[in-house]
Amino acid sequence: MARELKEVQGIIFKRQKYKEADLLAKIMTKEDGIITLIVKGALRPKSQLSAATLNFSMGTYVIYTNGHGLSNLRTYKEVKQFDGLYRDLTKNAYTSFIFDLIDHAFVEYQPLGKYYDLAVFALKKIDAGVDNEMITQIVQMKMLSAFGVEPELRHCVICGKEKGTFDYSIKLGGIICSDHFAVVNSRLHLMPKQTAVLRTIGLLPINRLGNIELNAETKKATRKAIDRIYRETIDLNLKTKKFLDEIKLF
Ligand SMILES: [Zn+2]
Repeated sequence: MARELKEVQGIIFKRQKYKEADLLAKIMTKEDGIITLIVKGALRPKSQLSAATLNFSMGTYVIYTNGHGLSNLRTYKEVKQFDGLYRDLTKNAYTSFIFDLIDHAFVEYQPLGKYYDLAVFALKKIDAGVDNEMITQIVQMKMLSAFGVEPELRHCVICGKEKGTFDYSIKLGGIICSDHFAVVNSRLHLMPKQTAVLRTIGLLPINRLGNIELNAETKKATRKAIDRIYRETIDLNLKTKKFLDEIKLF
């Protein structure tokens, strides 16, 4: 592909110093995937490109690209900042982890499709003050399929039963009904309500997930279960996750 000017819509989610006064900024887009941009002169005072490439800026950017490797940011059109999110350490930490997680599921320039919509959903909800922890758990459950882990949440992996009392087995890759609790050693021993939460947030489309209000105990148990599913099936070891675990208030 020849080098061309291209307009992309996306969200800046990571930046680091590059040469002299230049920055490298990562942008997440729907159709063109994740792109690393060279932002020339961004570290000079009064650089307009710098303000437009703060973390979690969302907008239309004009880039010079040949579809692989580093691209150049030329200019930008409308850019929206999520101020609340930028100033709030906790919101920032949750959002950083979510974008880091999505970043690790794709190679650069690979279209993100519905996972881009998931990123936008999370960004807007967290900015609006919806429970950070619940939004993060929703994203984690939805991202399992992007990593090639497709847990069976619709019915018992052994007998296919769809209604009843369920637990989860990482080894068997999904939910198991109470008929087999005695014989499945690998189950997580979740309370039925906790397994129900995993099923709901894993199965329901994001536009149907309203405010999910859970007590702290349930939320902590589902958090532990999801972390364990990730550890035992994907093992990412992300710094943003470690940081989040350190600042977590419960
Ligand atoms: Zn069963």
